Amino acid sequence: MNILFTSSEVYPLIKTGGLADVAYNLPKALKNLHQSVRILMPAYSSVLKKLSNSKVLNTIQLKGESVKIIETQIYPSRLKVWLIDCPPYFDRPGNPYVNEQGQDWHDNALRFGFFCEVAALIATNQLGLKWQADIVHCNDWQSGLIPVYLQTIISKKPPKTIFTIHNLAYQGLFPYSTFTQLHLPDNLWSPEGLEYYGQMSFIKGGLVFADTITTVSPRYAEEILTPEFGCGLEGLLQHRQHDLVGIINGIDEREWNPAKDVSITQHYNSRTLPAKSDNKQALQTECGFTQKLANGKQPLLIGMVTRLSEQKGIDLLIDSIPALTQLPIQLVILGSGDLHYENTLHAAAKKYPDKIHVITAYDESLAHRIIAGADIFLMPSRYEPCGLTQLYSLRYGTLPLVRAVGGLANTVVNSNDESINNLTATGFSFTEENPLALQQSVKYALACFAQNSLWKKIQLTAMKKDFSWKKSAQHYLQLYQEC
Ligand code: ADP
Repeated sequence: MNILFTSSEVYPLIKTGGLADVAYNLPKALKNLHQSVRILMPAYSSVLKKLSNSKVLNTIQLKGESVKIIETQIYPSRLKVWLIDCPPYFDRPGNPYVNEQGQDWHDNALRFGFFCEVAALIATNQLGLKWQADIVHCNDWQSGLIPVYLQTIISKKPPKTIFTIHNLAYQGLFPYSTFTQLHLPDNLWSPEGLEYYGQMSFIKGGLVFADTITTVSPRYAEEILTPEFGCGLEGLLQHRQHDLVGIINGIDEREWNPAKDVSITQHYNSRTLPAKSDNKQALQTECGFTQKLANGKQPLLIGMVTRLSEQKGIDLLIDSIPALTQLPIQLVILGSGDLHYENTLHAAAKKYPDKIHVITAYDESLAHRIIAGADIFLMPSRYEPCGLTQLYSLRYGTLPLVRAVGGLANTVVNSNDESINNLTATGFSFTEENPLALQQSVKYALACFAQNSLWKKIQLTAMKKDFSWKKSAQHYLQLYQEC
């Protein structure tokens, strides 16, 4: 099949979150299943600067702009990426969505509306690339108008479309004026179309017009049908329930492999698990922590690598700090985002320097060192469509301690008498959305940590889990074929 995979970010060219990882690894897995895949993304200036191999496939005039379609390949997979180069929209500093001050670009609707229109033209072979898509796989609100352009504006016999929700909270909502600026047909301005309580909603383009809707875990696919997780779109999603499927993300097994990880101090695998402790010691040293407590015992080293946003339950952690610092634990947090959280966490680190270390940055290499070195990986998320870092942690024998929501509920098996006995336990989880529940889970993890052989048993079960992309890619391929 010819698959056009559209995304606003693609690892390793540009990444702000999990979407970029998926937008590289799923197409790669589809290519390995012998499909013809093109990834399509905007040519941001930072991406153009990174390209070492590229060629211009065509230059066209569209809506008064000169647009180049550039092809590059990502090595070693040789995945083909097509970039839409239109400097007035994409040649800017900052990240794909916000300026250097962290504010949304004022013309995001026009930028991504343009991206969607060009995507629809490419998919229907109208830009001279001699390639026609059978399937267009759209991701998140930035791709939301592609099914709209395909079905209502451009093509008589459009390719089939799949729309994947990576995070329903980000909907691409803009004032009515953008609807007119985008010259969309008047009949789309209704609650059955793109209107959302007086605003223009990009994500509704995908949710209303795509042939199939997917999201990134089975549990999240159920949760978003409810008012608690549906972000106001639960009614529409219930209506489309029969076209909605949850497929868990995989991980990049080359990038996240403790036996070969170039960022960590000591390589290890399930047979050489004791070597993991070298990574713990190195991380403790890096954080300025001691390796042993006054009583000679090992502290439980808890790691976090995360966007600092409300979604990630950072406030549950912050409210737990006074209680957690009474326990034999150490906590290292790598994160960036909400300034309020950054400042509060720095203040906590200043108050408890022997227990808490905070790095507010985006640092891939440190993320690897934390995931390899920590005993526990903490994710107290309010909601979590899939989550990738708990999957990396499982592979590294770093037991996830998570709130049982979304993909976390699908991928982490809580340790209790039963799951420990039948060798299914892979981590720790709690359900209630409150600090006490988090603290109780940490206390239970500490009790397990005190029993070496038990801990190792859970680690080995965690490390055996298969989160390769192959299985998920096969599931997507089946959906494409059924579309
Ligand atoms: P989300 O997409 O909601 O941010 P995911 O768990 O799906 O959460 O993916 C987050 C990705 O971003 C992971 O690959 C994680 O390692 C990475 N990441 C998040 N914050 C940082 C950071 N501060 N430094 C390095 N990597 C980070």
